[in-house]
Amino acid sequence: MAYVIPIPRVASVPVKGGSAGDEFPVHRIYCVGRNYVDHAIEMGHTGRETPFFFMKPADAVLPVVEGQVGAMHYPSLTKSLHHEVELVVAIGKGGRDIPAASAMEHVWGYAVGLDMTRRDLQNDMKKQGRPWCIGKGFDEAAPIGAVVSVANCSVSPDTRIELRVNGEVRQTSTIGKLIWSIPEIIEQMSQAWELAPGDLIFTGTPEGVAAVVAGDTLSARIDGVGSLELNIIGG
Ligand code: MN
Repeated sequence: MAYVIPIPRVASVPVKGGSAGDEFPVHRIYCVGRNYVDHAIEMGHTGRETPFFFMKPADAVLPVVEGQVGAMHYPSLTKSLHHEVELVVAIGKGGRDIPAASAMEHVWGYAVGLDMTRRDLQNDMKKQGRPWCIGKGFDEAAPIGAVVSVANCSVSPDTRIELRVNGEVRQTSTIGKLIWSIPEIIEQMSQAWELAPGDLIFTGTPEGVAAVVAGDTLSARIDGVGSLELNIIGG
C-alpha cells in the first residue's frame, strides 16, 4: 500500500509543563454555541437552551507558544472578524454516551483559545438557514495557547477568563458562568459523536465579542491555565 499524494501533516498544539517538545495531536475541533447567558443575550437569544455544536477543521489550529506573540492573517471575504475567548478542553480518552458523572476522566487538559469568527458571513448564513462553515471553519480560525494537563493546572468555577485588545479589556467572566458545565457538554456531545483522544472542545464565549482589525494585539488569559498573545496582520 502506498499513499498517492503526500500524507497531510498532523495538526498539534505544544504542551506546557511536560517534557520539552511534547505536543498534543489534534483529532477534531468541536465548539459549543451560546454557552454564557450574557453572550446569548447579546446575540439576540435568551438564557439556557439545549446546547448546540459546530466544528472547525483540525488544521484550523494556530498554536501560539506562551511568551511569544503569534500572528493571524486577517482572513479573506470578511469585514467583521470577531474574537471569542474560550476555555478549551483537550480530550485524552475517547468514548460514546459518556455520563456526566465520569466525564472528567476523559479530560486530558485545558488551554485558552480564540474562536475567531467571520461574523458578517456567519450572520448571512444564519439568515439563509445555511451552514456556518464559512463563518467559523476557515484557516487559522482557532488560535490556541499551550495545552496544560489537568495535573498541572487548576480550573474551578471562580477561574477568570479574560480577553484584552490593545490592552483594553473586552471580555471578562468566570468559568462558573458556563450554562452547560464541562461534564454536561461531554455527556451531550458524546451522544452525537464518539469522542476520541485528540479532540478539542471550545466551550463557548462570554459576552463582549467585537471586531478586530489588522494591527490589533489580542491578549487572552485563563487564570491557572495559561495565556495567548496574538497580532492580527494584514491578509
Ligand atoms: Mn464560540
